[in-house]
Amino acid sequence: MKKQKDKGRLARSLRAMSVVPLVLLGVVISIFSYQAVKAAMHKAVNTELKNIANAVAMTYDLLYPGDYQVVENEDIDVMKGNTKLTSDFSIIDRLKEETQIDITLFFQDIRVLTTIHDDNGTRIVGTAANYRIKEDVLDKGKPHFYTNTIINEVQYFAYYAPLFNADGSVTGMVYAGKPCTEVKAAVRQAVLPILVIVLCGVGIVSIVVSSHTEKILYALQKIRTFLSSVSKGNLWEELDPVVLHRNDELSAMGYSALYMQRSLRTLVEQDTLTELNNRRFADKRLKETQAQADAHGTRFVVAIGDIDFFKSVNDTYGHECGDVVLKQVADVLKKHMTGKGFVARWGGEEFLFLYDCTDLEKARKETETLLDEIRNMEIPYEEQILKITMTFGLAEGGMNSKIKELLQQADNNLYKGKEAGRNRVVI
Ligand code: GH3
Ligand code: MG
Ligand code: MG
Repeated sequence: MKKQKDKGRLARSLRAMSVVPLVLLGVVISIFSYQAVKAAMHKAVNTELKNIANAVAMTYDLLYPGDYQVVENEDIDVMKGNTKLTSDFSIIDRLKEETQIDITLFFQDIRVLTTIHDDNGTRIVGTAANYRIKEDVLDKGKPHFYTNTIINEVQYFAYYAPLFNADGSVTGMVYAGKPCTEVKAAVRQAVLPILVIVLCGVGIVSIVVSSHTEKILYALQKIRTFLSSVSKGNLWEELDPVVLHRNDELSAMGYSALYMQRSLRTLVEQDTLTELNNRRFADKRLKETQAQADAHGTRFVVAIGDIDFFKSVNDTYGHECGDVVLKQVADVLKKHMTGKGFVARWGGEEFLFLYDCTDLEKARKETETLLDEIRNMEIPYEEQILKITMTFGLAEGGMNSKIKELLQQADNNLYKGKEAGRNRVVI
């Protein structure tokens, strides 16, 4: 289907209305899904880190009962009960191996044991937690979850839980953390299928809705072009069948436009009294017939028929009676010409006949038969029966004949018939 370049407001708004809300919906669903997955993921990481941190604290409590304290020997050592913690990384390393989660044990805010290494591969023991963590966890004695803590220039999701001595005082912290890149990658991985489904859905629905909209716009455009052409007087303009095959309100509109065109054609090309075609229609058909004869060498016959002494019908019985006679004669003429050509009211009580693809002799015989029918007509009017006759003049046309001359010839023959006493066919 050829795309119409329609600059109408309705076309623009329909196109926008069919796609923009869908795209917006797609964007909203995508953002919402991303946020929901992210929140769920953060919650899961929070729980995971919290469990690990608590497990670490509990493990040390179970293995080495007693308080955390600092003992100054040659070095400064951190003790848990009677056990020296400093430099014994076995427990946290094992946990890291199993869970892939970094663990750090703080005495106050200083890292005593950690699984985190710097760029040289050295554990970052002896370094301090940043002041914010110190304030949140150490000072307040409450655990805290961070979604963006920088340790050794790496961003971590981090859970810090305070460590307590037997007297309830906060003595340090335990940390469990995961690099942000890992969590973000997991979020992306979870969101990706949702995004693909949403995009595909929006894409498919957009294509379906757009194609539907384009079809509606196409039909509207065709109806508009059709009506505009008819309004310029083109009563033979054709309406695209695609519009009529739609089977909806638009095809109904198309049919109404078509019927309106037909009514106009009838009004313009039909005689209102006799309902025969009028002179305008006859002129057009004569030209078409001549063109066909010029192209293919076909022959045809024109005849002009005139009711004899019609004036006296009017004068004797009144014009109303004259009208009745005209209508009844017209019905007989129309019936006679069916399948042979056409008849039109040429003016007053004169009729024009066109016999398609025939010669003068055959047309003469046909006209004689018609005249017999006219002679035999009994026209009832106010308890009286009227009888009439007609006179006909014929002329034959073919390749290169001139309509004007043919009509003149037929008219001359009609005149001759009238002169010779009427009620006859003259060729
Ligand atoms: P001729 O045999 O020579 O044709 O005589 P005529 O009386 O038929 O011809 P004439 O031209 O003298 O008269 C034709 C009449 O037809 C005159 C006009 O008033 C009448 N007439 C024309 N149109 C109508 C019409 O629509 N209704 C009626 N009732 N009369 C019409
Ligand atoms: Mg007459
Ligand atoms: Mg006349």
